[in-house]
Amino acid sequence: MVLRDLARDAGTLTVGSPYPLWAMTVVDVAARDAFLAAVRERLPDLRLLEDDVDRERFRRDEAPYVAADLPLAVALPTTTAEVAELVRLAAEHRVPIVPRGTGTGMSGGANGVDGALTIGFERMDRILEIDEANLVAIVQPGVINADLKRAVADKGLFYAPDPASYESCSIGGNLSTNAGGLCCVKYGQTRESVLAIEVVLADGTVIRTGGRNLKDVAGYSLTHLMIGSQGTLGLITEATLRLRPAPPPRSTLLAFFASVEDAGRAVAGIAAAGLGPVTLELMDRETIAAVDDAFSLGLDREADAMLLVESDLPGEAAVTEVERAAAACEASGASFVIRAADHQEADWLREGRRQAYHALERLGVTRMEDVVVPRARVAELLRRVRELAARHEVRCATFGHAGDGNLHPNFVFERDDPRADELTHVLSAELYAIAMELGGSMTGEHGVGVSRAPYLEAQRGADAVRVMRAIKAALDPLGILNPGKVLPPVP
Ligand SMILES: Cc1cc2nc3c(=O)[nH]c(=O)nc-3n(C[C@H](O)[C@H](O)[C@H](O)COP(=O)(O)OP(=O)(O)OC[C@H]3O[C@@H](n4cnc5c(N)ncnc54)[C@H](O)[C@@H]3O)c2cc1C
Repeated sequence: MVLRDLARDAGTLTVGSPYPLWAMTVVDVAARDAFLAAVRERLPDLRLLEDDVDRERFRRDEAPYVAADLPLAVALPTTTAEVAELVRLAAEHRVPIVPRGTGTGMSGGANGVDGALTIGFERMDRILEIDEANLVAIVQPGVINADLKRAVADKGLFYAPDPASYESCSIGGNLSTNAGGLCCVKYGQTRESVLAIEVVLADGTVIRTGGRNLKDVAGYSLTHLMIGSQGTLGLITEATLRLRPAPPPRSTLLAFFASVEDAGRAVAGIAAAGLGPVTLELMDRETIAAVDDAFSLGLDREADAMLLVESDLPGEAAVTEVERAAAACEASGASFVIRAADHQEADWLREGRRQAYHALERLGVTRMEDVVVPRARVAELLRRVRELAARHEVRCATFGHAGDGNLHPNFVFERDDPRADELTHVLSAELYAIAMELGGSMTGEHGVGVSRAPYLEAQRGADAVRVMRAIKAALDPLGILNPGKVLPPVP
């Protein structure tokens, strides 16, 4: 009931509403002009975009239904010193700042805010060092995830975090959302691979939160405070990342099920058997058909769901692990299981799963959600998602990182369906209520951003949100860092 009310608020907050994303400090036009003049004077070599056409590219991320304004201007710095100077000037002129990676976020976190300067990190894209002795990489925030993976693979090393968007998302965006992906069931979310960061604080001060040490417990963990804070507490200008030796080639299994709940039970069975696959991904019937249409993989379109299970253990251990996973699938009613013929076939299958969202986008307006539940409740979540979609007569396709309990239900609307925006908010609110009821969360990896901010208190409780506000006030007393994101508006 409460969440339904929130859905209504979220609707007015984000659907065609003049509600400002940022309403803490009033900046008049003259003050904005003075700020931009100061930026041009102090940073004459900085790339500063002020044309409407240029700024338009930075208006929003990949969630088209979330409120977004045209940025006041867009700065594309190349050094930490430039970022620090920009933030100092912004604080002096009381101009808010929106940090942005490559804008693949799904919650509006990088969306432009009226009167705010967007700082895009796309030109801070250098891999500064690959330290093979310490298994560490030091990178600027604009490095693309897959580029880092390829660079370290050339040296026989492995950077684990792998969001499905890895060919286009930035390391800065990954840290700021604490991104997940296809192999975090084994290697953890992005935070497990971050040793230290360099951060520009809201007054332009630059701090470092640690070094190349695997262990370091001196003081509060500012690294972990910043990770996942979506640019509301500081701007990440450098990251010291943990690498691993490259794992051996994977052993890959596909299991098909006559019911989506059986697949959910198999996920719980694999966890209960103590197995630790590197990939445990699910696609339901709608997703299987869309992926198969797009990539002709020869998937079983009669199945209600399938699991992709992979092991990267050394030698025969991988085969054994996958065989034990196959037994767990069969015990949960899998209609059949099949091993990938070779590594190329396994790569295609994994890529098909990575491209599931884009395959679904071919069917209509696709709204991707991101809930997570304890693994033993995946089957229940899958059932409840279907009931929800049926109740609202909306097409729904679900895929996701089932091994983490993290599923992406996608609501797919006809392209001319006038209900799409409004209904998205209602469906999301009801979905969050279901996830919370099952002991889960409204977001596993995409973050709160703008779209989930109204629900944060329902998820975390008023006291926890009060603590978050206190941290925000301590680190950003003027409220200039990514305003309107993560924290709900003060009532
Ligand atoms: C097809 C598709 C598949 C996806 N699959 C996954 C997936 O499997 N797992 C997953 O976790 N996500 C996934 N995502 C979501 C998205 O790719 C991730 O959230 C990613 O981490 C965002 O990176 P970005 O560079 O695009 O960041 P942006 O969208 O530009 O920004 C994201 C947030 O980080 C902040 N930010 C960016 N850079 C900095 C910085 N240097 N300092 C401070 N704040 C900063 C922004 O203000 C914003 O709040 C997917 C998205 C798409 C479109």
